[in-house]
Amino acid sequence: MARMMRAQVIEAPGKMVLKQVPVPEITPDEVLIKVSMCGICGTDWKIYKGEYASEFLPMISGHEFVGVIEEVGSNAKGLKKGDRVAVDICLPCGTCYYCRRGDALLCETFTQLGIHTDGAFAEYVKAPWKNCYLIPDEVDALSAAFVEPLTAVMQAAKKMDISIASSVVIIGTGLGILHGALAKLRGAAPVIVIGRSESKLRLAKQLGADYTININEVDDPVAEVKKLTGGVGADYVLESVGTPETYEQAFNMVRRGGKVEAFGICPPDQKACFSPYEFVLGEKKVSGSCAGIGNDWGDVLTLLKYKRIDPTPMFSMIVPLEELEQALHELRTNKDLIKVFVDPQATERKILR
Ligand SMILES: [Zn+2]
Ligand SMILES: [Zn+2]
Repeated sequence: MARMMRAQVIEAPGKMVLKQVPVPEITPDEVLIKVSMCGICGTDWKIYKGEYASEFLPMISGHEFVGVIEEVGSNAKGLKKGDRVAVDICLPCGTCYYCRRGDALLCETFTQLGIHTDGAFAEYVKAPWKNCYLIPDEVDALSAAFVEPLTAVMQAAKKMDISIASSVVIIGTGLGILHGALAKLRGAAPVIVIGRSESKLRLAKQLGADYTININEVDDPVAEVKKLTGGVGADYVLESVGTPETYEQAFNMVRRGGKVEAFGICPPDQKACFSPYEFVLGEKKVSGSCAGIGNDWGDVLTLLKYKRIDPTPMFSMIVPLEELEQALHELRTNKDLIKVFVDPQATERKILR
């Protein structure tokens, strides 16, 4: 009989069931990982509600994980039982037009582990061995489980390519807090973070922002940014909210010749308004960035190892697997919660901040 494990299975939109399922069987190109920790992401809520990737249900979600290798496929190199690993969740096809150009994030049949295939809200998860990154001893389990969201921030930072002593505005205080931290690491000055939650703006300051703007307290965030940048606007603006309104603010607060990085995801049917005239005469630039891939994992682990970035103030609590569904709802209603992790081995929740 197959070995069994506990897993939270999303059987249909809005229906999550904790049940016994077979431990995944690996191919020679995969490893089996015992999950130590898995972060809960906004995407998990969307999968749970059937708003994203619903054609893949029933499935186990969970893509921000760290674990210990339990079994190694015969083709795997440089990995052994007991190794702690983080996993690049990207599963590009490798052969389409974009993959062959080296733009695997644009793969025509792009899927991700834990989003389109079974993930880590379970005792075990399997992954291709080539996607595994060894975790340095200096990096603790929670930070390691936070590598995946950090890779998305890392990829955006590479695309923005901030030059030293440039002004940077980040709109949003979810991953926005980390975009601010990486901008500072790249030598940006000043780093300005815009949000609506005082506690999250305080955290943004703690992680490196020079100024914060609470939109509940100002009439016009564009005017505030101009005031802080000598009247010209910001060299770079990163949108990390995902509403047409905040995108319009981003287009208006970037200086002439400056660059907008589009990161926040709007619903597909929404449109934002901007002036092509200002983009042409102002020589403004815009680029998009949605996820991390490949050595973004290695690069984030390097930054964590050498303490160039410390995300731990963002960690709110750890819950047992049993409480995943409840925690998904709490994340919607309790705006002070930032990062919540599931520990499949835990029996009770642990508050971290
Ligand atoms: Zn995520
Ligand atoms: Zn492809």
